[in-house]
Amino acid sequence: MHPYTERVLAVVKERNPDEPLFHQAVEEVLHSLDPVVAKMPEVEELNLLERICEPERQAIFRVSWQDDKGRMHVNRGFRVGFNSVLGPYKGGLRFHPTVQLGTIKFLAFEQIFKNSLTTLMMGGAKGGSDFNPKGRSDGEVMRFCQSFMIELSRHIGDHTDVPAGDIGVGAREIGYLFGQYKRLVNRYEPGVLTGKDVRYGGSLGRKEATGYGCVYFAEEMMKTKQDSLEGKTCVVSGSGNVAIYAIEKLQALGAKVVACSDSDGIIHDPEGLDLDIIKDLKEVRRARLAEYVKLRTKAQYKAGGNIWEVACQAAFPCATQNELSGADAALLVKNGCKLVAEGANMPTTPEGITVLQKSGVLFGPGKAANAGGVSVSGLEMQQNASWTNWSFEEVDKKLQGIMKNIHGTCVHYAGEYGQPGDYVLGANVGGFMRIVYAMAAHGLV
Ligand code: NDP
Repeated sequence: MHPYTERVLAVVKERNPDEPLFHQAVEEVLHSLDPVVAKMPEVEELNLLERICEPERQAIFRVSWQDDKGRMHVNRGFRVGFNSVLGPYKGGLRFHPTVQLGTIKFLAFEQIFKNSLTTLMMGGAKGGSDFNPKGRSDGEVMRFCQSFMIELSRHIGDHTDVPAGDIGVGAREIGYLFGQYKRLVNRYEPGVLTGKDVRYGGSLGRKEATGYGCVYFAEEMMKTKQDSLEGKTCVVSGSGNVAIYAIEKLQALGAKVVACSDSDGIIHDPEGLDLDIIKDLKEVRRARLAEYVKLRTKAQYKAGGNIWEVACQAAFPCATQNELSGADAALLVKNGCKLVAEGANMPTTPEGITVLQKSGVLFGPGKAANAGGVSVSGLEMQQNASWTNWSFEEVDKKLQGIMKNIHGTCVHYAGEYGQPGDYVLGANVGGFMRIVYAMAAHGLV
């Protein structure tokens, strides 16, 4: 590593103890930026790396709420505004019991580079809570969201910070959050949150955007090998928002998706997944995936199974961070996998990435491959700012253009820095370039 990047990484680890996910995200980016630091002395002269690695602001707050039996609960809320040099802070909210400050910081840090890659005007942020919505009634989720927004509302605004959904935060939660924000500030400010229902200011195509975008990116990667996803056997982990729409687009392009998962287990359906059943289970009934096999008797359910054991030609990790290890990557390679595109944020461990890249597997990192979600959030902000709505086709066409452009950026920078085909390097350097110019231009920020 370059001595400057090494120094910055040491400072990050010392200043942010016990935050391994944040360290992992920073280390990957700094490693990619080594050749840039060597080529552009102003990065060190202006101490840009240390500045980028320190969040501009971090809010931690108590969220008290009452369950259906009248018991009081306490959770912890977070909002980290990491970098606003390219636009208002932008990034989702995650409600999951594992959420800690370090989780939010890793996600917000990734978001800076991802948002930069889109070329839209969005800074990087993330937020959330260790609240677990699973098994809670609509009333309990609503009361939690209302309480969460009482504090969050002090930090956000359509030109300041614009949250969206992430794990555990979908259209229902965004609705409750938006309703409470409107009451608190006495303004109908549609651009303050994205991922809204299309009937009150949301964008057509937002629900589909991350999954579709990931598949568009993967198709671009395949084209570099004069190949396509058509006819390929695929595996998609997770069965939430990103996974469902990745499966939908893969099927539309003629791929066969044979497995998906939730946190309890995996389903393997060798004839190809029936997406209508999965949507009904997950989007309508909020049920567990285990029920799938009651309706598709040829499919198998394996509690606690490892989805990467299922042979495939293309794999799409779309559940959560560090879900694909070095050993899993070796399994994928052994079974003939030729492409991995990350729908989730940082789902592949550093060891996993090394195995895949060394084996010549096309590897699309999340900050590029899953940027479709935030891109359409940016388009939702544009529609809200002009009080208009675009058609699904218009949004989808723009999404395809953005994903193609991000792919081109990755290819360009990977080539420029002597690592053709290295999408990790291409995405990190490509994202960094806009940020670094803007930070230098803004002076001491
Ligand atoms: P959802 O909450 O809709 O779905 C998450 C899925 O992943 C569920 O199937 C869930 O299973 C599974 N999952 C979550 N945590 C774990 C875990 N610890 N172990 C195993 N499985 C788990 O979230 P999204 O689909 O929105 O998000 C998925 C990923 O994509 C996340 O990494 C997120 O940050 C990323 N992402 C999302 C974007 C979006 O627009 N939504 C945009 C860009 C990235 P279960 O239901 O059993 O918990």
